[in-house]
Amino acid sequence: MTQSYVIIGDGVAGSSAAETLREEDPDADITVITDEGEALYNRILIKEFAKGKLPEAPISIHDESWYDERDIDLQLNTLVVDIDVDGHTIETHEGEEYAWDKLLVATGGTPTQLPVDNSDAEGVHHFWTFQDARAIKNHIEQADNSVIVGAGLLGIDLAAITAAQDVEGKYLMRGDCWWRYALSEEGAEIIHEALRERDVEPVFQSGVDHFETDDEGHVTTAVDPNGDEYDADFVGIAIGLNFNTEILQDTPIETDDGIVVDEYMQTNHEDVFAAGDITQFEDLILGERAQNGAWGSAKEQGSIAAQNMVDYGSEPFEWVSSYSITHFDFPFLSFGHPTLGDDEAEAKYSDTEWRRLAFKDGRIVGGVLIGDLSPQSKYKKLMRERRDVADQKDVLMQQNFELDELELEEAPAE
Ligand SMILES: Cc1cc2nc3c(=O)[nH]c(=O)nc-3n(C[C@H](O)[C@H](O)[C@H](O)COP(=O)(O)OP(=O)(O)OC[C@H]3O[C@@H](n4cnc5c(N)ncnc54)[C@H](O)[C@@H]3O)c2cc1C
Repeated sequence: MTQSYVIIGDGVAGSSAAETLREEDPDADITVITDEGEALYNRILIKEFAKGKLPEAPISIHDESWYDERDIDLQLNTLVVDIDVDGHTIETHEGEEYAWDKLLVATGGTPTQLPVDNSDAEGVHHFWTFQDARAIKNHIEQADNSVIVGAGLLGIDLAAITAAQDVEGKYLMRGDCWWRYALSEEGAEIIHEALRERDVEPVFQSGVDHFETDDEGHVTTAVDPNGDEYDADFVGIAIGLNFNTEILQDTPIETDDGIVVDEYMQTNHEDVFAAGDITQFEDLILGERAQNGAWGSAKEQGSIAAQNMVDYGSEPFEWVSSYSITHFDFPFLSFGHPTLGDDEAEAKYSDTEWRRLAFKDGRIVGGVLIGDLSPQSKYKKLMRERRDVADQKDVLMQQNFELDELELEEAPAE
């Protein structure tokens, strides 16, 4: 019997699921539905477009013919507004219904709005889609000064766009350093210095109390909780994501700041799966439920979900995710879950070389490498093998450490 699969979302998770489904089930009916007006593009690269460093064309990954060639029905500009799990259908904003035997929800997230006055003023930008990047590029090219809010991996992209477009900026942070949950002040200072060199000034113990606007409703000033005022005709905000779970609200599907799935990407309903940023998944390496916001992980989850939609239990998701930043003269990489753990170790080797590992129950669960990424594969291997190494921090932190310098017990059974 021909199976019908419907995928909501054509980000990297949805798209890679469609590709795998076609490989695994050549005769199936496959539909991919997205509210965006363009097929899969490289979300990682839209910042390079906004910086003015890349044209539009190389950012696109698939054009519509890619779906046609694979006999995948792609519906652009189509918002799914309702899921009927018992009836095995979904409904779009135009009232159209699609029936499915198996459903994949790969709807990702939407940037969180800052809950302060005038955060929706003209000139205040959030950053998730190619359309956002186009608006940011158009505006920043004309801007005189900027304020960036959100001391994390997306906020720094906005700061780097400001720098690349030669617009001086203030980067308002609530704590004492950038990405304070994963870096110490010493490690983050390498990033702060690189920002200052590019005319973006980190401002600590700050944030936004409210924005002021001119008579046309365009932002002019950010006022922080200390009452300090920062001129800004461009504001970029990246304070996190709200996961797109509204369509599951009246369904029995379990959600918890995302969609809860097992290691096969299956929800608590046997015909409904989820993949990508939106999942709260069973992380086999971490040993507990986790969430990832990274391209490679979303792509792998899409593919794993598809395999299990065709043959449940065939392939678990087991992955150490990585996220790199390429804005500066030195490389930067975070891997695994660097903000988690009950123990840590860090070391600085030079003005642009620093490393930190996060441990939980004696095992590495994540880390951040600045300047020298060469040990990443060794740390990831120890993570994947769930090795108990927290008592050998002196070896792990040696600049050129080798795995055979560690005293390792037998790898625990998986
Ligand atoms: C500017 C930027 C830079 C990034 N840089 C990096 C990086 O350097 N490295 C890295 O690893 N990761 C990076 N990321 C994160 C990475 O892009 C994401 O983790 C990844 O794209 C998530 O893919 P996804 O398919 O799960 O979700 P998404 O890409 O968010 O796709 C979800 C899709 O579903 C659509 N959708 C949502 N609801 C509905 C609905 N009801 N009906 C129809 N369609 C719907 C959305 O419009 C969207 O197109 C970056 C992200 C951004 C925004």
